[in-house]
Amino acid sequence: MNVEDLGEPQMICEMCDSAEIRFVHFMQNDRYPGTLACGAICAGHMESDLLRAEKRDKKMRSDASRRQRFPTRAGWRVNEKGNHLIKTNGYRVTVFKKGLAWGAVVSRPPIATPYFTREKFSNVTAAKMAAFDTMRFVEDNVPKPDPFRLLL
Ligand SMILES: [Zn+2]
Repeated sequence: MNVEDLGEPQMICEMCDSAEIRFVHFMQNDRYPGTLACGAICAGHMESDLLRAEKRDKKMRSDASRRQRFPTRAGWRVNEKGNHLIKTNGYRVTVFKKGLAWGAVVSRPPIATPYFTREKFSNVTAAKMAAFDTMRFVEDNVPKPDPFRLLL
């Protein structure tokens, strides 16, 4: 469903309850209720595709320094509601405050489905970095719309 780099190993895989994970794969599977936060190996088992999970994991690792710079890169603006917005590479990222926590949503027009990060970040920087993960996830996993079909 999504991925997130926690910055350091700071949670236990919800599938095996033993692996300490930094690079989280959010998985859904008919056999389990809700969304599970998993490490790459358990994610691979859940989707019956270890290579695909490994590829996603490697991508997160290699993007780590760009992700670090994302919150301070040029192009961010703050609107009248206090949301932080950026348009980059065809994506629209909105970082918003919900209650006491920050979250973010990524969309790529004309795809109607927005992709949300968790809404549990204590600061705007962490939410921006999670938005970066979500953006890369959409880039790699959601097919670009066929331009000819859009004309119909
Ligand atoms: Zn696991």
